Amino acid sequence: VSFWCRTAVTSEGAQHRVRVGVDSLGRISSVQAGTDPAPDDLVLDTVLPAPANTHSHCFHRALRGRTHGGGGTFWTWRDEMYALAGRLDPERYERLATAVFAEMLVSGWTAVGEFHYVHHQPDGTPYPGSAMERTVASAARSVGIRLTLLDTCYLRGGADRPLSPEQVPFSDGDADAYLRRWHALRDAIPDDVVLGAAVHSVRAVPEKSIAALVRGLPADIPLHVHVSEQVRENDECLQEYGCSPTELLARAGALTPNASVVHATHVSPRDISVLADTGATAVFCPTTEADLGDGIGPARALADAGVPLALGSDQNAVVDPFLEARGLEAGERLSAQQRGRFAPAELLTALTSDGRASLGLRPAALRVGDDADVVELRSGSLRTLGSRPEQILLSATASDVAAVLVGGRLVARDGLLVGAADGSTSDPALLLRDALAEVLP
Ligand SMILES: [Zn+2]
Repeated sequence: VSFWCRTAVTSEGAQHRVRVGVDSLGRISSVQAGTDPAPDDLVLDTVLPAPANTHSHCFHRALRGRTHGGGGTFWTWRDEMYALAGRLDPERYERLATAVFAEMLVSGWTAVGEFHYVHHQPDGTPYPGSAMERTVASAARSVGIRLTLLDTCYLRGGADRPLSPEQVPFSDGDADAYLRRWHALRDAIPDDVVLGAAVHSVRAVPEKSIAALVRGLPADIPLHVHVSEQVRENDECLQEYGCSPTELLARAGALTPNASVVHATHVSPRDISVLADTGATAVFCPTTEADLGDGIGPARALADAGVPLALGSDQNAVVDPFLEARGLEAGERLSAQQRGRFAPAELLTALTSDGRASLGLRPAALRVGDDADVVELRSGSLRTLGSRPEQILLSATASDVAAVLVGGRLVARDGLLVGAADGSTSDPALLLRDALAEVLP
């Protein structure tokens, strides 16, 4: 298989008339610029490496456009989310996850790190055979998006707070039970899924359990954790442990180059140097952080300290890789009152290479040996006309995604999914309509 790009944009810049060969494993076998397409090549317009969505809770998509009445806080938003979680079972969850992963794929997200915590039945009884986790895996596989399943540990409601009734399905009871479930899951999950782990937060997992997880999980898997999304989390951590969430995680051994801290909105200069020393990645979710009123994290300071940045759609109120990348830069401009805080190439690296690394995926940066995962953007749309190719991610939206290739296979075209078996197309909006009808009150 080969495809040909009128323009190919990478973090190194733009090249023109680029022919890319793909081998039988779906990896790039050749890259040649300044050449014509061969007769059978898939001819593409402006091509970017594959955006990787490093932080998602797919079912939160059902709350989109329904949480803005009467104000509300992060914590009242959370109550609505809990009510939704209580209406999920494996069948409903699989249909909703399939629809949301389909929306991601046609919007240009080629991989997703699903931070998954709805493990059990509403009363806490486990489903047989890790049913909820396997539905997430089969949903991703059915649409063709790469999945890193970040199976999440969630044990308590907070310092000295037991689980609320709504949180019961999230918990395994203790770290040992979580670890037993995780290792069983590793045997049950298909090989094409990367199985990672997550600590929900220092609110939801006490220090000794975090340390037990670090000892009981393989050292080389992605480990993600929500960190300092809200000031209240910092205050409670200081009161309970006398340190910040970042310092607590470092002390428990959770911060390594395979770790990612999600949000890092309210981290101190000291936290930033701790993160830089450990090699952990910081995952920003700009559209969600804006929607929930979390605040603006110190992205530039983290990057300057040497912390890799990645991006995620989190609550999926917005599913658009380009708006996340722009949101990272917009937050910096608004807080620093200065333009050009991140160069377009840096935004592309966060969206692609550093995101893939955070998810434990092979590189996909349009180089020989990389996974052949790319998105094609229309350079002639109302939004993108006139844009320099290197800056197109600052003008394009998900509506400008013309095609998506994962492992060299065309998986989406013009907003539709392309089936693996026969190349037939299907509309994610219809999948979503049916899935939402089952879970919305
Ligand atoms: Zn999250």
